[in-house]
Amino acid sequence: MTLFPEMFESLKLSILGRAIKNNIISIDAVNIRDYAFNKHNKVDDYTYGGGAGMLMQAEPVYQCHKAISEKIGTDKKIRTVYLTPQGQVLNQTLAMELAKEDELILLCGHYEGIDERVLEETVTDYISIGDYVLTGGELPAMVLIDTVSRFVEGVLNNDESAMTESFSNGLLEYPQYSRPEVWHDKAVPEILMSGHHENVEKWRFEQSLERTKERRPDLYDEFTKTHTKDKKGRWIL
Ligand code: SAM
Repeated sequence: MTLFPEMFESLKLSILGRAIKNNIISIDAVNIRDYAFNKHNKVDDYTYGGGAGMLMQAEPVYQCHKAISEKIGTDKKIRTVYLTPQGQVLNQTLAMELAKEDELILLCGHYEGIDERVLEETVTDYISIGDYVLTGGELPAMVLIDTVSRFVEGVLNNDESAMTESFSNGLLEYPQYSRPEVWHDKAVPEILMSGHHENVEKWRFEQSLERTKERRPDLYDEFTKTHTKDKKGRWIL
């Protein structure tokens, strides 16, 4: 649900585009303005109590949500996410959870946001993409669609697995290298050329740990608090 459906056209490219073509996911950008109830198609108005900026009115949002729910035609309440800086911050765990839903309705705000009353009646989840304010919910919705889609079976090829990447085990991913073997006098770490699978895995895990400790001490602390080591001093995953 958006005032700018054209913004979602870019999702038709690359990996998501392939998934849409193969009918694994579908994205329908519905224009809230189509549900405006005045002849000028206006969907925003001043806020009660004063203050800067305009607010999206309740009725067009409500009617748009109702039409989508009826079109989907299920008895159960469809999980409806309002993208807002006031929501729970999106992370990998939440994305995996949302990927289990057959349908999701995403509501994008604009201007100063949306009349609180319609949020109370339609929204089940309030999700933010970070502690900063954007001009609209469209980019956050696209971020959410992208990361959630990666956990829908069949969206990624085997060689694009979502399970080995950063955050999947609570750590950042290890550094990676491709051809050529030497670039700008920098050689690929020897161990990766050894063909010794076990040693490569061990090296990658150590690199993951080190990188997380350095770049995301918060994640590193969480990892060490929630994992234990075996008798040889290796972390048990
Ligand atoms: N007045 C609102 C506030 O202070 O919380 C901010 C409104 S913002 C300018 C307009 C719209 O952008 C919001 O309704 C929301 O849909 C979206 N938005 C802005 N920042 C966001 C964020 N960090 N995460 C998710 N959505 C965001």
